[in-house]
Formats: sequence, structure tokens, C-alpha cells
Amino acid sequence: MLREKLVEGFRNGVVVPQGLIAHGRGEMFDYLLGERTTKESRIASRAAAAVLLRAKRPVISVNGNVAALCPREIVRLAEVAHARIEVGLFHRTDERVSKIQNVLVEHGAKDVLGFLPDAKIPGLEHMRGLCSKDGIYSADVVLIPLEDGDRAEALAKMGKKTVAIDLNPMSRTSRASTVVIVDEVTRAFPELIRSVEDLQEDAKAIGEAIKKYDRDTNLKLVAKMMSKNLSDFLDR
Ligand code: ATP
Ligand code: MG
Repeated sequence: MLREKLVEGFRNGVVVPQGLIAHGRGEMFDYLLGERTTKESRIASRAAAAVLLRAKRPVISVNGNVAALCPREIVRLAEVAHARIEVGLFHRTDERVSKIQNVLVEHGAKDVLGFLPDAKIPGLEHMRGLCSKDGIYSADVVLIPLEDGDRAEALAKMGKKTVAIDLNPMSRTSRASTVVIVDEVTRAFPELIRSVEDLQEDAKAIGEAIKKYDRDTNLKLVAKMMSKNLSDFLDR
């Protein structure tokens, strides 16, 4: 079903061919993970929710793959976390930004940034660094599902907190982000929405969720799990 959604997104001009390749890479890690949400991913999800709830100006960065896979959940998360939505593309064209914007509006988004970028993320090549002053540029926390490593590193260098969703625990995105949820994006979004709803207006629980999470330990545990699944197979 996910592949069909991406192929449809590709046909509609929402997803680029590079996005299909990136999804295949993600599927491989998901296979090693057992295609399920792990305990580590739940811990990361709660920390991610806590960071979003503490944010003054949270922004959800949306690319073609994420818009094709879970548009409704993006809109719902923006509502519960009081976050703005910005289309942020690695392979940017006005046409594609506008198509993605339309997909989100069709699923209930009221205000989507990204069509008229008026700022730049320092350190990135011109088209890749374009963003909105009112959105990603001035955000204190940016949610970056399926982000490229260069952009994730550049956002971190700007002093922003980033929350990544990425199935590859070894990617530069995973290692550059404040919190990273290693899970498939269509499982990670509903879990993150639940975490935000659960922690909302509970300062103590928010603090505990952050305390309980250590990125590097979490990434190592996930990588170990993948490696164990592979070695269990060898020992069969
Ligand atoms: P990096 O640039 O961070 O070092 P990369 O070049 O391998 O890593 P990109 O193609 O830039 O990665 O970004 C896509 C990332 O998203 C990949 O790490 C891939 O594993 C992950 N990914 C792809 N599809 C999904 C999905 N459906 N859910 C979660 N993660 C995904
Ligand atoms: Mg990359």
C-alpha cells in the first residue's frame, strides 16, 4: 500500500524519482527492524513530543514522500502540537511545492508555508537552502521526517532543535538531530500524535520524557536490534 501511494504521488508530480529510491533504502532498514514500532521508538517519540510541546515556534517540514504517505497525520500533528507546516524540498520546483501544498490543503491544512521562500538556510546550495522567514528560518524546533543529511546538519548548525523520523540509525540526519525516531513514517506519525496528546499540559511528564531519552544510546539499541535480527537469521 505504501508503494502504491508513492507511485501515485510520483505520477501526480508530488514525489520525485529520487524519493522512490530513498523509500527503498528505508524499506531495507524497516525489514531489519521487523517492520514494527519498537520500545526505543516509543521512547524517542515521547521525547520528540516533549521537545515539540516545549517549543515556542515549532515547524513541520514536509517533502513529497511524507505528503504522499501521511498527509492527514501531518495536518493533525500540526493541530495538536500548534506547529506550522512548511514545504521544504531538496529538489525544489514551484510546481511541486504547489502540488504538495494542495495535497495538504485537501487534507485540512489551513496555512502551509514554503511557496514564497524569503530566507535561506546558511551553508546549503541556493535552491536547497530556500525557506520561509516565518517558518523554518525562525523556528526553534523543526520536525524533519525523511530529511537529507546536509539539510539536517545545516539546521542543527543554525542552533535549532530538530526532531527526525528516519529508519536509518546510521544516517547523518539521525546523528545530527536532537531527537530521532527510528521508525517507518506512517507508524511514527500516529505514535507521535498520541505522545503529544498524552503529554499535553503535563510539565512533569514532559520533563521525564526528555530525561528518559538519550539519542546515542537509543540509536545504538536500535542498531543492535537490527544486527541481532540478522544474526538470528544466520543461526537458524
Ligand atoms: P543522510 O543524507 O542522512 O546521510 P541518506 O542520504 O541515506 O542519509 P536521504 O536519502 O538523504 O538519506 O534521506 C532519506 C532517509 O529517509 C533515509 O535514511 C531512509 O532510510 C529514510 N526513509 C525513507 N523512507 C522512509 C520511511 N517511509 N519512513 C522512515 N524513514 C524513511
Ligand atoms: Mg542524503
